Amino acid sequence: MRLDGKVAIVTGAASGIGKRIAEVYAENGAAVAIADLNLAGAQAVADELKAKGARATAVAMDVTDEAAVIAGVAQVVKDLGGVDILISNAGIQIVNPIENYSFADWKKMQAIHVDGAFLTTRECIKQMYAAGKGGSIIYMGSVHSKEASKLKSAYVAAKHALVGLAKVVAKEGAAHGVRANVICPGFVRTPLVEKQIPEQAKELGISEADVIKNVMLKETVDGEFTTVDDVAQCALFLAAFETNALTGQSLVVSHGWFMQ
Ligand code: NAD
Repeated sequence: MRLDGKVAIVTGAASGIGKRIAEVYAENGAAVAIADLNLAGAQAVADELKAKGARATAVAMDVTDEAAVIAGVAQVVKDLGGVDILISNAGIQIVNPIENYSFADWKKMQAIHVDGAFLTTRECIKQMYAAGKGGSIIYMGSVHSKEASKLKSAYVAAKHALVGLAKVVAKEGAAHGVRANVICPGFVRTPLVEKQIPEQAKELGISEADVIKNVMLKETVDGEFTTVDDVAQCALFLAAFETNALTGQSLVVSHGWFMQ
């Protein structure tokens, strides 16, 4: 399962899960574009990969901004010679009970998770179709693509939407050898989750330890967090898998929190 000669764009790759995917892809032979709102962070990751001998580039990209996505993907094609793999991963979390959820926050969540997935897919798939070499599009869903939790109306709605999008892209892309799948991680201790622990403790009126034990990891088979590496290995498998046999699927990596 290697990615020699492939070019990957990973959004939100300046941090957390996206960063680890970029590292694992580079270790397995891919050239990697680190696309993020945070250009300094993206540059630091690209520099790290280049220092280890990989081909990498940093791209300033707000995935909610159509012009920025168009320009960013064009820059990657120019810098790295094409796009074979898209990891639509950029994301944020805003927790609040629905009666207090502001419309502005709701729209921001849909814009990053759903509009971002649409815009990056459209721009990358055009390149994949034109090159005629197929491709792999991977959406970073969540157990919340399958399950619900309190306080997460916007996130759960957005993550469910990605499953629908992946199924359509799988059908449309098949004739061109473009596959589309979703990875659905359980809780991973990235900055996105570290921020939520005190927020949820406050909203639910419980301790931070209880948020971890009785909210985040309660339904897992072993009380353990999923790791960035667990998710990156799944992303490697889905990107390296060569045929349309594996498309339109969701791969849940969550210590058994959600079982299909
Ligand atoms: P993170 O906060 O560590 O990283 C997110 C990255 O996305 C950051 O570098 C940030 O700058 C970037 N970003 C945010 N808004 C952006 C935008 N508009 N355009 C481009 N980049 C933007 O978070 P993470 O935990 O690594 O999350 C990555 C993805 O994994 C998200 O989609 C998240 O929903 C999903 N996920 C995370 C977990 C978890 O427990 N951490 C579980 C399931 C799914």
